[in-house]
Amino acid sequence: MDEVDLSQIEKELLTAGRAASKALIKAQEIVHEGMPLLELVEKVEAEIKACGCEPSFPLNVSINHIAAHDTVSLLDPPQTIPKFAVVKIDAGAHHNGYISDTAITVSFNREAEKIVEASRKALENAISNLKVNMTVSQLSAHIESTIRSYSVNPIYDLTGHTIERYNLHAGVSIPNVSNRLGFKLSPGVVFAIEPFTTTGSGEIAEDTTGKIFRGIKRVRSPIRFDERVMDYALRERKGLPFSDRWLSNIGQAQEVVSSIRRLVRFGALYEYKVLLERSKGLVAQFEHTIFMSHDGPIVTTLRE
Ligand code: MN
Ligand code: MN
Repeated sequence: MDEVDLSQIEKELLTAGRAASKALIKAQEIVHEGMPLLELVEKVEAEIKACGCEPSFPLNVSINHIAAHDTVSLLDPPQTIPKFAVVKIDAGAHHNGYISDTAITVSFNREAEKIVEASRKALENAISNLKVNMTVSQLSAHIESTIRSYSVNPIYDLTGHTIERYNLHAGVSIPNVSNRLGFKLSPGVVFAIEPFTTTGSGEIAEDTTGKIFRGIKRVRSPIRFDERVMDYALRERKGLPFSDRWLSNIGQAQEVVSSIRRLVRFGALYEYKVLLERSKGLVAQFEHTIFMSHDGPIVTTLRE
């Protein structure tokens, strides 16, 4: 049987990958203790656009025991990077719906040295052991054993994931702990590997609210403004995650936020809750997106 031609897809994925990796290089250059969070997210998201892509999700800046899904929301009071912060910066781009997703940890806290190294090394080892048609279970075993070799804990309930066009979390999880998932990383599969490590117990708790949303379906609403928000979520974002900040051009902050809250209640939008490490341990994360080609893995988000 002929091999399916994946070269066009690979090209799109590399365009998205390059934008996100350049965004993280920018983030690493500018992030510092005392930096306004809004400045960081705006500059890094702008870098993605400067590369001819759109963000595939709002820049996540998750600090200390906040593990993931934090960003700046329209009604947040001004906030800065605290002293001794452990800062996870998670960036994604898309080009014609082809997605990249990549993260680094920048630590200003020496107590986080081991988790940062464990997470970085777990990602590096996982990638260097990747082979065509490898199972998720084999891949996860590499991730967990590297993390354990640093005597720190993986986070059990945060995982890597497969990625499809316009679909960031496409259904198959790639856990950071051993499992029996037989899903094969075959040619054409796109996936993110993201080892999360912590000084805590490794369990996640959800915060009460979220700052990142995505469109699910159109619903009837008595409020006309809600139509514009649904248009944005479903037509413009095509179901990809977004921030209320990105809607500040269509209405007042309070109007935008109220509409989003209402549409979450109506089931039109999904709300990603901010995720915390339950025992308040520090959390580190590194992430790359990988495209499995016929000849083996291609890391689309490599930073040169
Ligand atoms: Mn990510
Ligand atoms: Mn991811």
